[in-house]
Amino acid sequence: MIAEKYYRTDPILTGKVMVYSNEVPWSLEIRHVLEEKLVAHGFCPVHELTPDVVLIMVIGGDGTLLSSLHYMSFPETPIVGINTGHLGFFQDLSPDQLDEFLERIKLGKYSIQPMRTVKAQVDCAAGEFTHTGLNEVLIKSRESRIVHLDLFIGDSFIERFSGDGILAASPAGSTAYNYALGGSICDPRLELMQLTPMAPMSTAAFRSFTSSVLLPAGLSVVVRPEEGSKLVLAMDGLERIHEDIRQIRMEFAPQIVRLVRLDGYDFWNTVKRKLL
Ligand code: NAP
Repeated sequence: MIAEKYYRTDPILTGKVMVYSNEVPWSLEIRHVLEEKLVAHGFCPVHELTPDVVLIMVIGGDGTLLSSLHYMSFPETPIVGINTGHLGFFQDLSPDQLDEFLERIKLGKYSIQPMRTVKAQVDCAAGEFTHTGLNEVLIKSRESRIVHLDLFIGDSFIERFSGDGILAASPAGSTAYNYALGGSICDPRLELMQLTPMAPMSTAAFRSFTSSVLLPAGLSVVVRPEEGSKLVLAMDGLERIHEDIRQIRMEFAPQIVRLVRLDGYDFWNTVKRKLL
């Protein structure tokens, strides 16, 4: 379990609140309304993240929340999502709850859902690169070709994976692409990284795991592609291409996203409402 300190919910009485929105007209309308309400409640709305920002409010869907985190390099500042008509797995607020929410945070009546992130460290001819994702990092071929990846868990060589690619999902990302690939839904209170194969081949010629593998925090996965491979890495849908890769190490990243939830939030109730 993640350390209790992340569940601390002090009242947020005043200060700068960063507002981030997608460009959908309704979201922009809500952004205008929100900024007026923030002023009326004694807060100062801003558009840039500075160390004195006390809260980040993101208007849109999960995709907007994910892109805001990448834009801000995964800040520690508490973040809350306002859903403007999307699936909204991360978004806990609806636009008609703004006044109630601002009153509640002033009373400390909210909770923080800490969410682990995952990272991929790429060692390639061009240097070393680290990429982070809240949902997942995935490795796949650039063209529609099979990838062959030597896979190590901890210090042990496990298999030569052959298929479309491999996805390493955080618990928060278990309900996203991971779920569509047949991976398991993971309660975010568990610190498990899920390694899910994408169209694994399991034939007389190639042998790969066909199900997800669950790994504890602290254990890393290393993949070594064939020499000269050009691979795509996608972090929450954001793609990077690397060539001449020696190895990619995937594990939990140090950044923890602190999502603000209203009292009464229940992960499994959200799963039922959004996925079933
Ligand atoms: P998108 O292609 O526009 O939307 C992907 C869908 O996934 C949206 O409905 C989004 O919710 C939802 N989603 C995002 N994170 C989620 C989570 N943790 N749990 C449940 N649903 C979630 O892309 P995007 O909005 O930029 O999101 C990027 C994510 O898309 C990636 O991280 C990846 O997990 C997912 N993805 C899924 C598939 C698939 O299922 N076959 C394929 C590629 C990518 P909202 O409607 O609220 O935005």
